[in-house]
Amino acid sequence: MGRQKGSRTGRCQGCNHLERVRIERLLAAGASIKGTARKFTIDHHALRRHWINHVSAEARATYIVGLARPRISSKKSSRMNLSP
Ligand SMILES: [Zn+2]
Repeated sequence: MGRQKGSRTGRCQGCNHLERVRIERLLAAGASIKGTARKFTIDHHALRRHWINHVSAEARATYIVGLARPRISSKKSSRMNLSP
């Protein structure tokens, strides 16, 4: 058995990227893999593989939900109780 190309465990450019969350959030929002890859100086082949193999549908859904529901929970909370 020889070396397997591209299967170095734990060496995914996507997984190891410092901005991983931002990258995945952008992709979940519909950004193109090529454009996002260029923006974060990552190989777009590696990014696509990461997006397909390492980001579960559940994780993608979580990003999308996070985008669709911005935290505007302060709308109903009154500041009446903030007495000095
Ligand atoms: Zn990955």
